[in-house]
Amino acid sequence: MRTEKSEALFQEAQAYIPGGVSSPVRAFKAVGGTPRYFVRGQGSRVWDADGNAYIDYVGSWGPLILGHAHPAVVERVTQVAQEGLTYGAPHPLEIELAKLVRAAYPMAELVRFVNSGTEATMSALRLARGYTGRPYIVKFRGNYHGHADGLLVEAGSGALTLGRPSSAGVPEEYARLTLVAEYNDPEGLAALFQRYGEEIAAVIFEPVVGNSGVLEPTPEFLEALRDLTQTHGALLIADEVMTGFRLAFGGATERYGLEPDLITLGKILGGGLPAAAYAGRREIMAQVAPLGPVYQAGTLSGNPLAMAAGVATLEILRTHPEYYQQLEALGAELERGLNEVLHATGTPGTVNRVGSMITVFFCEGPVRRYQDAVRTDVEVFKRFFHGLLKRGVYWPPSAFEAAFLSVAHTPEDLEKTLEAARAALA
Ligand SMILES: *Cc1c(COP(=O)(O)O)cnc(C)c1O
Repeated sequence: MRTEKSEALFQEAQAYIPGGVSSPVRAFKAVGGTPRYFVRGQGSRVWDADGNAYIDYVGSWGPLILGHAHPAVVERVTQVAQEGLTYGAPHPLEIELAKLVRAAYPMAELVRFVNSGTEATMSALRLARGYTGRPYIVKFRGNYHGHADGLLVEAGSGALTLGRPSSAGVPEEYARLTLVAEYNDPEGLAALFQRYGEEIAAVIFEPVVGNSGVLEPTPEFLEALRDLTQTHGALLIADEVMTGFRLAFGGATERYGLEPDLITLGKILGGGLPAAAYAGRREIMAQVAPLGPVYQAGTLSGNPLAMAAGVATLEILRTHPEYYQQLEALGAELERGLNEVLHATGTPGTVNRVGSMITVFFCEGPVRRYQDAVRTDVEVFKRFFHGLLKRGVYWPPSAFEAAFLSVAHTPEDLEKTLEAARAALA
């Protein structure tokens, strides 16, 4: 496989862009080697600058549930682009997309559009604090909610640890307002509420974790989240930026019958263009400006192109409920195949999957919490990743990410992927 062009581009990029990339994980630091410059995508395939084709399991990190360059999405965006790119004024497509969000999430009575998942969670937290008048928020170790200051926080040790910044530039004073608990640990969460209960504005969580690799919530954990927040007057924020429209049309909220007060959406919502949202009951969302005192704004928010891509994508998903069965079946097939490959090659490992999100942890299972996930053997992952890459399979370049299936993936794609996986781990 020739990669001269990607290598030259990456060299040149580093002279102009920090690390050569617009988002850190793209730089391949966790796996080594040179990131590929993709210049074309169609269905389940991407092509790099050197002309190599890959079966893609990144899907732009989640948005591309319909595959690359779905004709209906491209057509809708092209049409709208010809009319004008942006106005900084309300646009009819915002109403269409908000209606589709409410169709998926009946609790989303009011929807505010923003440009990224980061903005959505940041704004949802501000709203929760404005609505409750309380200072603290609770997040879970290893859950990722974008890079807003108060969310770039990890735990020290134990569930009662005050938040510590996981990035330079986040003041301790600020991180202290973020309490960190252990995912799938109802007792730890209860202890946190016992101590800080009346000062907690909100609990934010990934309803299925994708950002420590895939971790599924236990029913007891989901129950504790709802009960404890309700009892103590805190808001429950389901961060569905990754899971929204992916695990069902109504996301994890539909799949698990959740009752969050607020949700955040992104990724699939924008159909491949930058759009995200936070949404919830009218009573809470009415605190947002211009209706209420919680300020939040955006020059390009509700951008017509992004709205068009989102509307086209969600309309297809809404009218094709069978796609979710198809993704479930493909996911089950990939899971079964990967388990077989692990077994056949004598590689210790565990496959975690929920619907079309899947992670191979290279350690003995079960993997239910963050501290289980970090036991994965990153050296084996690197061999797995590069073994796939050189055989034309693009897997997420980090051991702690979810791989994504799209409706464009075929059983033949899976067969080829499993062959590559077997060779990579042999
Ligand atoms: C990707 C992601 C975000 C951040 O979204 P960006 O658009 O990258 O800012 C937030 N929460 C979750 C659960 C995500 O997966």
